[in-house]
Amino acid sequence: MFLSIAVDGPAGSGKSTVAKAVAKNLGITYLDTGAMYRMVTLDVLRNKVSIKDMEAIKTLLDKIKIEFRTEGLFLNNDDVTTEIRNDVVANHVSDVAAIGIVREKMVAMQREIAKGQSIIMDGRDIGTHVLKDASHKFYLVASVEERAKRRLLEFEAQGIDMTLEELMKDIERRDGIDSNREINPLKQAHDAILVDTTKMTIEEVINFIMSEVNHA
Ligand code: C5P
Repeated sequence: MFLSIAVDGPAGSGKSTVAKAVAKNLGITYLDTGAMYRMVTLDVLRNKVSIKDMEAIKTLLDKIKIEFRTEGLFLNNDDVTTEIRNDVVANHVSDVAAIGIVREKMVAMQREIAKGQSIIMDGRDIGTHVLKDASHKFYLVASVEERAKRRLLEFEAQGIDMTLEELMKDIERRDGIDSNREINPLKQAHDAILVDTTKMTIEEVINFIMSEVNHA
């Protein structure tokens, strides 16, 4: 029996850090679905394609090559591990991720990767759509301020200059678009366990998920 674990939640709720650690503990594959939408966004920006031009978006999607290699994340054979985290990509990703044909292609790729192996995926629509039948589903939340503080620490560590206010604004804007889009919006699946991480350490969240997975 394969394990399939869905971890959803808004930006900065700790999903990726937690999912990565749980994958390592369990020795299973981790898939960062947000990185996939970020790679499509970078492709759109690099090719100066308008997000209203569906023909051009379709042409890009037909030839896009997204790879998770051990040495990093590759878009059309180019290492974009750092670039997809920059603020230009962050400012456009939710609009690109709201496009139907983009979501169709990404979801198909995600399901293909999940086939025949144990996996933990983090994103926005994993428990509600991509892995609807997942054996375990978690929905992580935290206050906007706490999420912005976490992002600020990450950016500081990378030497990127941002203020808490800028980050709070970006998070609120992205949450708004992600929760209100028509296709598979950010939403807690009815059978997902809600975890409010505002006052929890990363270790506490990891331990909670590990104990749920081990005892269920
Ligand atoms: O997880 P991360 O913050 O890197 O995701 C970037 C963006 O990608 C999100 O704000 C959202 O617009 C989009 N996304 C999505 N569905 C997913 C994962 C990410 O729409 N499963």
